[in-house]
Amino acid sequence: MNRKDFITAFIGSTFAFKLSDTFASKSPIFEGMFTLAPLPYANDALEPHIDKMTMEIHHDRHHKAYVDNLNKAIAGTDMEKLSINQLLKDISKYPVAVRNNGGGHWNHTFFWQIMSPNAGGRDAAQMPSGKLADAITASFGSFDNMKAEFAKAATTRFGSGWAWLIVTSDKKLKIVSTANQDNPLMDIATDKGTPVLALDVWEHAYYLKYQNKRADYITAFWNVVNWKNASENFEKAMK
Ligand code: MN
Repeated sequence: MNRKDFITAFIGSTFAFKLSDTFASKSPIFEGMFTLAPLPYANDALEPHIDKMTMEIHHDRHHKAYVDNLNKAIAGTDMEKLSINQLLKDISKYPVAVRNNGGGHWNHTFFWQIMSPNAGGRDAAQMPSGKLADAITASFGSFDNMKAEFAKAATTRFGSGWAWLIVTSDKKLKIVSTANQDNPLMDIATDKGTPVLALDVWEHAYYLKYQNKRADYITAFWNVVNWKNASENFEKAMK
């Protein structure tokens, strides 16, 4: 092999390698697959309210399992062509594995984003403001009343599930809870609406730090609520 042939072969093999990578990423196996996004902050960013190990296990194992099992449940079906919101909207048409794992994927993706370090009631600027603050006062009487009603929904949800602040179809704020990984966007939901805020009350969300004291976890949650993102959720839902 002379130098020119070597270079040609080298470039050829490099190109072939890149091309096969490109084909792999576009093969049907990878189409319509949902992915686990990294947490939008470090595992320990919500300390001391939500501990590092809980966040790590919750995201890296629990949320990952929902994504993996959702992908398994839709593999090779027409469901692969649908977005997560499209799946949730007509969830009654799909297998229960899609309801549980699709709900799990949507709920956790949302949950990570409505929390943040340096959030919550540490200073007035971190409280809800603007249109969301006005709507909370109008609907519940005060911010504290809303928190109390939300905490009640979270505390009284028996077993595993979620508490939600939602905007209903008639543009009203409402506090509801769902069982397991159900979600107010699902057609099977008793109380339908667009989520503004959510709290995971599965034991895996708090047991390492709070054990059986779910109420303490709920109280701690207010310290890490990302009201900026909640406000954006609210204003989008009101359009
Ligand atoms: Mn969870």
